[in-house]
Amino acid sequence: MTSLADRLFISLKNLDGYKLINMETCTRCATCAHSCPAYAVTREDYAVPAWKSVEFRRLLNRQRGSLSAVLGERPVPREWLSNISTKGLYLCTLCGRCMPGCVFTIQNLELWEVLRSIIYEEGEASPSLLEIADSLQKKMNPYSRDHGERLSWVKELGPEGVKEGQRAKTLYYVGCTSSYQEKTIASSTANILSRMNEDWSLFGKDEWCCGDPNIAVGDQEKAEEFAKHNLEVASSLGASRIVTSCAHCYRMWRWKYPEMTGRHGFEILHTTEYLQECLRSGALKLEGKLAARVTYHDPCYLSRLGGVVEEPRNILNSASENFVEMREGKFDTFCCGGGAMTETVDQKLWTKIGDERLRQAEIIEADFIISGCPFCRRSLTQAAERSGSKMQILDIVELVAKQLKD
Ligand code: SF4
Ligand code: SF4
Repeated sequence: MTSLADRLFISLKNLDGYKLINMETCTRCATCAHSCPAYAVTREDYAVPAWKSVEFRRLLNRQRGSLSAVLGERPVPREWLSNISTKGLYLCTLCGRCMPGCVFTIQNLELWEVLRSIIYEEGEASPSLLEIADSLQKKMNPYSRDHGERLSWVKELGPEGVKEGQRAKTLYYVGCTSSYQEKTIASSTANILSRMNEDWSLFGKDEWCCGDPNIAVGDQEKAEEFAKHNLEVASSLGASRIVTSCAHCYRMWRWKYPEMTGRHGFEILHTTEYLQECLRSGALKLEGKLAARVTYHDPCYLSRLGGVVEEPRNILNSASENFVEMREGKFDTFCCGGGAMTETVDQKLWTKIGDERLRQAEIIEADFIISGCPFCRRSLTQAAERSGSKMQILDIVELVAKQLKD
């Protein structure tokens, strides 16, 4: 029998009316299962997006939601939360494909984020996410790396003309994954910005994580704190625009920061948007088009969530001679597996989704997969290494940096 201590009242502070309507609209038809990469590679019932929806609604109905004002609240058994945590909640990369995959285009992603915040606040988050939360708290990055190492790529790779924490019109927000893991993305972006004669600077030692991993953890408050900090630094450096090479940072800066803090007034550009701008103005001139077969992997948060699909293709058509599309691309892109810190949270899921995406590129006999996000670069590179594939994985800034004309 459940004791009183095992029952609790969950906070619904992050569940506004719009999200509530989205949740109530779900008919549990499970059509969304066909779009979910986690379900595609696991065939696990709990991975079906509708499972999360059913469980979330069960919590709400138990507590009586807004009816509680009249009827009084009923506590939720703690085991319901641990059941959600240990089964389907984290069988999910937060890729958002279940939104266009839903017959009513229910905004599931935001519901999964709220559900994660409830599970986190009640102390039922997965142990690996709690480690990430601890690292974010102490080191302002999710990888348990010292904050002082954040700029190590500048020394190691020696990009040209780098300013750190100085006043500039344009700031390059590097993000944690390119700072600590996929460093060639950071150095290539820095080299391009300098070669474009941009008045630019890095945030320097004051750059903190963008807050995207905090949302995966379920710690919305910390995400907001990071947002406020990064915005303050950008203001203090007198910048008017922020360029980022990470699809997750892009979503945070472009949409989540204004949502969390009110309007911020900065122009936010992903590197693909910046490169297209430079191509159009004539500032960017490329030479030595790649002759091999090149395909583009759309990062979920840049394409499906960000709407940026034509810019990378325009750049690739200038940088390569033989561009081919994968079947599941643009807004319907198949996840690389790397979102929601899945590499740390569920290695098996991360591996299987990355392997599947690599297989899709192999079907069209691509030699190169180009992407626009350090999580994608990492997930797909690891997939290629695991299978011994000859596929080469690059970020779009790496390809462009190699082709810059003097
Ligand atoms: S966000 Fe992606 S992984 Fe998560 S349930 Fe939706 S489709 Fe599946
Ligand atoms: S397709 Fe939409 S309505 Fe059907 S179960 Fe999935 S989220 Fe609910």
